[in-house]
Amino acid sequence: MSKIVIAIDGFSSTGKSTIAKQLAKQLNYIYVDTGAMYRAVTYFALEKDLIGEGFFHSEALINILDEIRITFKFNEALGFAEVYLNGKNIEKDIRTLKVSQYVSPVATISEIRQKLVEQQQLMGKDKGIVMDGRDIGTVVFPDAELKVFMTASAETRAQRRYKELLERGHNLSYDDVLENVTTRDRIDSTREDSPLVKAEDAIEIDNSDLTIESQLDSLLKLVKALV
Ligand code: C5P
Repeated sequence: MSKIVIAIDGFSSTGKSTIAKQLAKQLNYIYVDTGAMYRAVTYFALEKDLIGEGFFHSEALINILDEIRITFKFNEALGFAEVYLNGKNIEKDIRTLKVSQYVSPVATISEIRQKLVEQQQLMGKDKGIVMDGRDIGTVVFPDAELKVFMTASAETRAQRRYKELLERGHNLSYDDVLENVTTRDRIDSTREDSPLVKAEDAIEIDNSDLTIESQLDSLLKLVKALV
């Protein structure tokens, strides 16, 4: 069976990674979470004190981009690949509200995008990949055979993310999460370089009222029709 590239884009916390991960597993494809890569750069910038409350030394960050090496390593027990920054597993460290608060400004920087997009394109050169993010169907793989654009109401998304963060032991309020989700949507959709937009040929899924199973089912049918 021929292998294809599946691009899944959409707003924050629309459940892209949940669907993408399961889809990849069913198809025996590689799954790549590109948000984790932008989060890794943000984590690095926070560690180096290059970004924080009211400041972002973007030039300084651009100057040391070569020091950043992002890799993924499959974790059998978890069933997905975890992200590493310069050899250190940072999968948990990048899922905090703090990283979420600084990642969108970091992702506006063209030099950073260029570096990550290049790496993403390499990862998908042999196809057989499900990649999720904001610009996969528009910039990274404009020729992807299947493009999906996921949406859901901001409240539904914030509620999901809030529950997830609470379960992981984070102490925060629903309002903070909602604020983060809407702020990231705004920055991601209005930035100059590779803004979040639905690719013309993408299939839009509003999953506010859809179960994971039904979304997966529809996507698997779409893939079967293509391979
Ligand atoms: O997918 P996730 O919510 O983890 O992404 C975190 C942030 O990384 C997004 O809000 C966006 O600013 C940035 N991002 C991006 N392009 C991608 C993936 C993520 O700009 N392809």
